[in-house]
Amino acid sequence: MIAAPMDASVSNSFDASLTFQIEGVSVRGRLVRLGRELEHILKPHAYPQPVAEILAETLCLSATLASALKYDGLFSLQTQSDGPVSLMVADVTSQGAMRGYARFDGPRVEALSDIASAPVVRLLGAGHMAFTVDQGSHTERYQGITDLDGANISDCAHHYLRNSEQLESAIWLAADVGTEPDFAHARAGALMVQRMPPAPGADPADEDDDWRRAVALLSSLTRAELLDPALSSEDLLFRLYHEDGVRVFESRPLFHRCRCSREKVASTIKSFPAEEILDAQGRAEVVCEFCKKTYHFEEAELEQIKGADNCANSA
Ligand SMILES: [Zn+2]
Repeated sequence: MIAAPMDASVSNSFDASLTFQIEGVSVRGRLVRLGRELEHILKPHAYPQPVAEILAETLCLSATLASALKYDGLFSLQTQSDGPVSLMVADVTSQGAMRGYARFDGPRVEALSDIASAPVVRLLGAGHMAFTVDQGSHTERYQGITDLDGANISDCAHHYLRNSEQLESAIWLAADVGTEPDFAHARAGALMVQRMPPAPGADPADEDDDWRRAVALLSSLTRAELLDPALSSEDLLFRLYHEDGVRVFESRPLFHRCRCSREKVASTIKSFPAEEILDAQGRAEVVCEFCKKTYHFEEAELEQIKGADNCANSA
């Protein structure tokens, strides 16, 4: 229970997901805020500002939905669509390691106007958003999919949550990547509330009122508050839900870490014919789409990788 606003650990409020419960009502929530780690994800890419912002919101959505799931492995959110931003991937492991990127057509993005009013419509266009949970090769993959239906990423998330068998939920997302080079001071946030099963003996009418109030208060949160680095997450929740009281549970760190490796890249490129990947000097260069790390392979090394694989297959 938070008795009064706190002023400590303000900087610790970002790059974390926080679980909370509104006191006395069957409503639970998640607050995700990204700062420095978001900067690390965006920095290697020359994203136009609106592309960086829609990707930042998508990363927050991914982290928020993942934080509400019990899983051990990888949660991945992917959009595919026919607009200037044709693909976005945002994934997060159960340990909190995040990565993501957007594939975009620069001139098409530049030609757009009035993006802020309907970023999904303008930037993504028509397509879908898919959610995957991968818990290793011996378990079933869970996949949910929804059309990109709405003006912004919050709308699309609502559309998905309404049509899936999830708990009744409301979510609010915002991002501000700023105008500084390399996305220094980029920030994004998400607040989600979920209606839990009613307490035994609870009056359904009261439960409905509680839920409507929780959603109304969520809607009263401003973008400035959600993204304010000087406002701790505890203070933010206290400001919104102080009438009922709010109980804050664990805060889990979120951090940028790409999972690419030389071995993984080698295993991907070995299936391609040599003439497709080797340049005139007999070298192959592969760039990770997430973190932009470059991997170089010599022809002899590639042959060795393929040779080792053939031996393994015939054994
Ligand atoms: Zn990488």
